[in-house]
Amino acid sequence: MNSETHSGGCMCGAVRFIAHGAPLLVANCHCKDCRRATGAAFTTFVDFPRDKLEFIQPPAAYQSSPGAERLYCKICGTPLAYRGESSADEINMVLGAFDDPQQFTPSEECHINSALWKTQP
Ligand SMILES: [Zn+2]
Ligand SMILES: [Zn+2]
Repeated sequence: MNSETHSGGCMCGAVRFIAHGAPLLVANCHCKDCRRATGAAFTTFVDFPRDKLEFIQPPAAYQSSPGAERLYCKICGTPLAYRGESSADEINMVLGAFDDPQQFTPSEECHINSALWKTQP
């Protein structure tokens, strides 16, 4: 059994979570919706099975597109996660919300056609 855990939360501390085990995937998303939702050029997501992600204090949710919602702190506004019907078993946590973000290294780039800048090889 994997006893690895990763904790995290929003800037003000009103929302806290614990992820149990290793992530399924760590990926950079370059889509427009993520850009708007986080304010960053691209968003690094750390994906966990939904049943491995435990919210100690629950976040607020905003439906960002049909079948998809973004979780955030309604007090400080920190973006926390993306949940979509297309990957109903997963929750995609925003890298910057973790207490130990240096633990995660992205292995994939998503929606690269929407990227603001092309990465040099
Ligand atoms: Zn907060
Ligand atoms: Zn995206």
